[in-house]
Order: sequence, then structure tokens, then C-alpha cells
Amino acid sequence: MLSNLATRDVETLIHPYTNLSTFRETGPLVLERGHGVWVYDSDGRPYLEGMAGLWCTALGYSNEELVEAASEQMSRLPFTHLFSGRSHDPAIELAETLKELMPIPTSKIFFTSSGSEANDTQVKLTWYLNNALGRPAKKKIISRIKGYHGVTVATASMTGLTANHADWDLPLPGFLHVGCPHHYRFAEAGETEEAFSQRLADELEALILREGPDTVAAFVAEPVMGAGGAIAPPAGYFAKIQAVLDRYDVRFIADEVICGFGRLGTWFGSEALGMRPDSLSFAKAVTSGYMPLGGISIDEPLYKALVTQSAKLGTFGHGTTYSGHPVACAVALKTIEIYKRDRIVEGVAEKAPYFQARLSALADHPIVGEARGLGLIGGLEIVADKSSKRQYEPKAGVAARCVAFAQAEGLIVRFLAGDRVAVCPPLVISHDEIDTLFDRLGRALDRTEAWIA
Ligand code: PLP
Repeated sequence: MLSNLATRDVETLIHPYTNLSTFRETGPLVLERGHGVWVYDSDGRPYLEGMAGLWCTALGYSNEELVEAASEQMSRLPFTHLFSGRSHDPAIELAETLKELMPIPTSKIFFTSSGSEANDTQVKLTWYLNNALGRPAKKKIISRIKGYHGVTVATASMTGLTANHADWDLPLPGFLHVGCPHHYRFAEAGETEEAFSQRLADELEALILREGPDTVAAFVAEPVMGAGGAIAPPAGYFAKIQAVLDRYDVRFIADEVICGFGRLGTWFGSEALGMRPDSLSFAKAVTSGYMPLGGISIDEPLYKALVTQSAKLGTFGHGTTYSGHPVACAVALKTIEIYKRDRIVEGVAEKAPYFQARLSALADHPIVGEARGLGLIGGLEIVADKSSKRQYEPKAGVAARCVAFAQAEGLIVRFLAGDRVAVCPPLVISHDEIDTLFDRLGRALDRTEAWIA
């Protein structure tokens, strides 16, 4: 029997990424408030938020400093925009702060309201740049199977997941995919991580040569894949990929929407994995999820091209009403101030080995094939047979069941395609809370094993 609030939800709301058929029976989990790494449902039940919301609430819940920053800006100037040269101090200060933080040479910052818009902007600017450079054929975008880059027409095309393509008439032409760097699932028997990485780099090179290097504009990748399965890349992967991109003058775009702002124990995932992108996209933890904000870094050659194009066309014809929203920028500034002051990123680096040790211990569980991650993100894969890595029928919904058991244990984690379970808690999680998280996840796996039997 659904509660009154739940019934009203089912009758009125369309939920993103939800099975809208089974949802009519299960109803929603209605959350009412949060504190630290804990959220509470409408019956007052606490849950450890093991996903930081949607990989974003890095500072946990009810951070009063962020609330005050928003409130102060709301009172002072709740809205103005950046169109036609209009500006405001939170956007200017945030752009300066981000420019300094960027791990790559950065000339300017462009703001959006989401990760999808950030990556969509990356595609558009890549096309625009190549038109400006007089190479109009160089337009194709390569990403990876299981990569996740958003849901706009272009970013869903880059995303390498069936749910974003099937019956959506996507990907658009000109969006190509290469293999997923998941060693456990896709390496050949006996293939080392380095050899697997080399094979994937060779595959990328072969694709670029087949398509023609003068038609391939950019390669887009998350440092650690998030929604595709919380997959950390194999050893040597990005160095080998980078060499191919350099050889064919293919722009490298890092999608740091999850890994940016400390998730891997460095300010950006690119630093942790030795990536040298031309530009990166950010969102989520830039405001600790408290306000919708995203953006991209603009390198000097791109900036020069934008200026030249404006001189030619009369304007830079891109941007949305909320690009650089003052309240979102004010919250981002406070968030970054707290990251620096409280040494949050260093804290992640300190906690990560323990977090990863507790995660990898779950690989000994009878139904777990792999448990691996980096920093404070990790994924585990439920399998029917550990030695052959055989999976359950997708229809059995085993990982979904495990996540439901976790919820019953008071833990929020997320199931992903391929019977994967992701964990990505707020960066402020304590040692004891890491124990609570993995104790509860272990019990959820036990209950899943019993349910299967
Ligand atoms: N890129 C990555 C790596 C993401 O994880 C996400 C969202 O989860 C996006 C892009 C899209 O961001 P948004 O949902 O804010 O549009």
C-alpha cells in the first residue's frame, strides 16, 4: 500500500532513469532531510547516502555555510546574466578561482547549469573551432562504450549505453564508440592490464585511420567511468590513448563531471590518471550538488578562435539563461573555499586506501566477481559464476535486488547495467561511516545470495 505522498507522486511525476512500469507498484523513496552523510525518509528512517545523491553531495547534507552563501546571494542579487557582456562578481571570482585550480592550461571558463550542457558545449565548440580553423570535415566525436556524458541529443549520442540509444534514434551520425576499458569484463584470458590498454589504444587508432584523421575531431572520456559501471581504467590506459590522440591531432576532452573536485584524491581525475586533456567539463561537486552548475575550461587556442569567429559573425552565439547563475556561482565559491580550508581533497587521499580495502574485500563474497575502484568511488559486479564470470539474466534484476536490500539495511547505493553496484559517498565520510557503509553492503549481498538460492 503506497502512502499518500507516494500515491500523489505516482499520479503526477515522471522520474528520470526509472522503470516507469514497475514504479507504479514500488512507488518512490521520498526523502525529507539530510545531515552529514545521512538522509532521512518521510517516515524518519535514516539512510547512509552511499552515492552522495547522484555522485555530487561531496560535503554531505545541511552544510550551513553553503546555505548562508546561497541565502546571502539570493538577498543581494538573485539573478542576473552574462549575455551581451553583462556580468556579476560571483561569476568573475569563480572563473578566476577555477582558472587557478585547473590542472591544464586554461584561458577562460564557460558556465552551464549541468553536466549535459557542459559536454554539449564541448561538442559544439569543437565543431565551431574546426570551422574557424578551416577544416570543416574534422567533426566526428569518439567516446567509449559504457561512457556517460549526459542526455541532450549530442551528449546522449556520446554516451555509450543502450538505454540512451534504443528507440531514441541515437547516436546521431558522426558519433563513434570504442571499447570499454574494463579489464575484468573485456580483457582476454591472461591479458595483462597494460596489454589490454594497448589493444584499446590500437583499436582507437584503427578507427581514426579507417574514418580518416581529417574527419575525427575529438575523443571524450571520464577518468573513472561513473554511470557505465563505476569502472577504473586499467594500468597505462590514458598514456596509450593520449599518444594516439596526439598523433592525429584529435582534441581530448576530459569529462570530470564526477571525478572533478576531489573524488579520486586529487583536485581533478585527470591528475590522478596522468591525462593531458585540451579541455575539461565539470559540474556536480563544484557546488557539492547544492545548486545546479557546470562548465568547461577553454584553452587559449580555442579562445582565440572564438574571438575571431565573433569578429566574423558578430557574436558568440551560445549560452543559456542560467549560464553563470549568481546564486550557483556564490555556492560554488563557498564550496571550493571549504574544500581548500578543510583539506577535503587531501582527506580523500588519506581515506581512500581504507575505503578501497573494504571495497576489495567484498570480492571474496560468493556472488561478487569484481570489486574495484579509485579514490572514494568504486564498483562491484555480481556474477552467477565467479570462475567463468558468467552473469545472471538481465531480467533477473539481481543488482537491483541487492540495492533494494541495501536500502532495507539503511544504505543508499546504485545499481547499474551489467549487474554492477556503485558506491560514491560524500567526500566528508568518516572512517566509522566507511565501516557502516561496507558492513551494510555486505549484509545486502548476503541477503541477495539467499534470495537467489
Ligand atoms: N558526465 C558525467 C560523467 C556524468 O556522470 C553525468 C551525470 O551523471 C553527466 C555528464 C551529465 O550531467 P547532468 O546529469 O548534470 O546533465
